[in-house]
Order: sequence, then C-alpha cells, then structure tokens
Amino acid sequence: MQYGTVKKILVTGGAGFLGSHLCDVLVKEGHEVLCVDNFFTGTRNNVHHLLDYRNFELMRHDVTFPLYVEVDEIYNLACPASPIHYQFDPVQTTKTSVHGAINMLGLAKRVKARILQASTSEVYGDPEVHPQTESYWGRVNPIGYRSCYDEGKRCAETLFFDYHRQHNLDIKVVRIFNTYGPRMHPNDGRVVSNIIVQALKGEDITIYGDGQQTRSFCYVDDLIAAMVRMMGTENGFTGPVNIGNPGEFTIRELAELVVDLTGTRSAIVYRPLPSDDPKQRRPDIGLAMDKLDWRPQIELRSGLVKTIGYFDDLLKNNTL
Ligand code: NAD
Ligand code: UDP
Ligand code: UDP
Repeated sequence: MQYGTVKKILVTGGAGFLGSHLCDVLVKEGHEVLCVDNFFTGTRNNVHHLLDYRNFELMRHDVTFPLYVEVDEIYNLACPASPIHYQFDPVQTTKTSVHGAINMLGLAKRVKARILQASTSEVYGDPEVHPQTESYWGRVNPIGYRSCYDEGKRCAETLFFDYHRQHNLDIKVVRIFNTYGPRMHPNDGRVVSNIIVQALKGEDITIYGDGQQTRSFCYVDDLIAAMVRMMGTENGFTGPVNIGNPGEFTIRELAELVVDLTGTRSAIVYRPLPSDDPKQRRPDIGLAMDKLDWRPQIELRSGLVKTIGYFDDLLKNNTL
C-alpha cells in the first residue's frame, strides 16, 4: 500500500456474512475500517479475528438512527437478507433499508464520501425476463411477505439515485444475486446452508416445491472482489450493476451435488413452496464484465467444498 492511499471506510452490516468478508479484504489492504452492526443477524464471532488489528474498529449501532463519523467511503450492507430473518420484524426490515439509506446518504453528503449500496436481485421480484439485465424494472408484489425486503431495497435504490441527482452524491449500486460461503448463518433458512447442515447432520434434506426452480449461486470471495472493484470505478459509473454467478442450477441439482460431496445418507424430502418464491433467477453480468472487468472464478462444486468444510468444523466444535 502506497502512502496516501489509506482510506477510512465504514462498513454497515460489517459483522454479517458478506460484511465480515468485506472487512477482511479492506483490513488486509491496510484501510482504516469501521464496522457498524446492531448484531441482529451478524455476530462478533464473524469479525473476532479482526479485533486485534489496529486498523479495525467494531461499533454497535442501528443504522435506523443517525450516525456521525468521519469517513471517505461507505459500504451500506446493513439489512437482514434471508426470508426467515427479514420476515421476523418486517417493519424494522423496511426501516433498516429506508431510514438506514437516508442516514447513510445524509452522512455521505456531509462528509463527501463515496457510498455503495448492497442492493439485491430481489428488486426484480419474480421476473418475466430471463436472465435479468439491469434495464429490467422487475415484477414485485408490493403487499406480500417478501415486500418488506424487496420494496425496502427498491426504495433504497430510489434514494441513492435521488441523492445523486439532487445533491451530486458519488453513489455506486450493486445488485447482488444469491451468494454463499463460510460464515453464512446456519439457521437462516437459505437453501445452501440448510441443505449442507441437513446433509452433515444426516437429517432429511428439504426441497421446497418440486425443486425445478432455479438459482445462480456465487461464491463469497468472487462477490466481494466485484464489490470492491465497483467502489473503485471512476468516470461516474453509478450502476446499478448485477453481480453474481450466471451458472444456473435447479434446487434439485444443488441438493444432489451436496449429497454427492458430503456422502450423506440423508433422504431428499419435498415441502410446500413459500408464497412469492421466484421460479427462476440468473444474472446477466455483461455490464459487470464490461465496466468492472470482472467475472466469477469459483465454480459451484469447489465453492461448496469450502462451505461444507466450514460447517463441518462448526459441527465438530459443537457450535452448529
Ligand atoms: P447478514 O444478515 O449476514 O448481514 C446483514 C448484517 O446487517 C448483519 O450483521 C446484521 O446484524 C446487520 N443489521 C441488520 N439490521 C441492521 C440495522 N438496523 N443496523 C445495523 N446493522 C444491521 O446478510 P448478508 O448475506 O451478509 O447480506 C449483506 C447485505 O447484502 C444485505 O444488505 C443483503 O440485503 C445484501 N444481499 C445479500 C445477498 C446474499 O445472497 N447473501 C443477496 C442479495 C443482497
Ligand atoms: N445524518 C447522519 N449523519 C450525518 C449527517 C446526516 O446520520 O453525518 C442523517 C440525519 O439523520 C439526517 C439524514 O441523515 O436526517 C439525512 O440527511 P440530509 O442532510 O439529507 O437531510 P436532513 O438533515 O435535512 O434531514
Ligand atoms: N429452498 C429449498 N429448501 C430449503 C431452503 C430453500 O428448497 O431448505 C428453496 C427456496 O424455496 C427457493 C430456493 O431454495 O426456491 C432459494 O432459497 P433461498 O432462501 O436460499 O434464496 P431466495 O429464495 O431468497 O433466492
């Protein structure tokens, strides 16, 4: 790292799954990292290994309240991301996305910081365009069980673009597609963690619906590399830009792969499909390849091996 390139960087939601990996990368790059989290779904354990670094600081704070700090860059990741967690207190979920965005944008405006929003493929809802490009406006139910998350994230994007147009803020918006890897919450109900944990424990593997719905799974390291690259883009590129892995799998294929890799004797069982569950999802990452010169490197099989290793360690340490 050259003199003068060290930045003060705020990561909201930094004790979560993605946020903790982002903090790892930024701390290693030598930046002064301020990790802000209310520990709703994130934990101190996720960043425990960073606490000894002099360029890392952890602050308990809820982003729905104002925050007065001095920083050069902000990554806004605070928000529960899995249906079980964001539906636990849906009003708080919308507040986190909307009030959280307003507060972080207000902060960015005051200190003239560049700010990146972790948006989501959920802004496309249950899409009738496949794969999804950034120009597609989405098909979202405004009053359903997923709406607190989907509409909260859509409103946050609106706020980012209005602060950009109205106050000339330097914004970046990434739309993240399903991401997996170590430090996923074991009980958050997401398909990758659920199936791996079930396979390792020898429990029934639950497929919702007929398992023919598709998702595209991106390994966390690839995702974080794209996020950091997006933050570094110049020439006023705001996004929104899709980041994810375009390799598309049915949930049934995913389950069979996990069965194969773990050698489990677990049976696959079928459960009802939750409402508003999208039938297919795959990112078009043409824009990211063009603007960020990025593409994912880690294939599902090798990413799953690393993730299975993480959960296996938790199981052996009796922390699963
Ligand atoms: P996560 O639940 O592990 O992380 C979210 C973090 O935000 C947690 O540490 C949580 O405690 C914190 N948080 C929640 N509400 C807060 C509040 N009001 N104030 C302060 N902190 C708060 O989830 P994740 O998978 O790491 O997701 C991180 C971000 O990326 C989220 O904004 C999510 O919407 C987005 N995203 C994730 C995925 C994915 O596949 N993981 C996909 C699309 C978008
Ligand atoms: N804000 C913050 N930290 C700051 C500056 C602002 O948390 O350093 C919050 C504050 O709660 C404010 C919000 O960001 O209400 C939006 O700020 P903005 O300047 O856009 O609007 P206003 O202050 O007029 O409400
Ligand atoms: N799913 C499943 N079994 C599980 C958990 C989820 O079949 O134990 C399905 C879920 O219905 C959805 C897909 O897997 O069709 C991905 O679910 P996840 O919650 O991981 O992500 P999202 O639906 O938000 O993309």
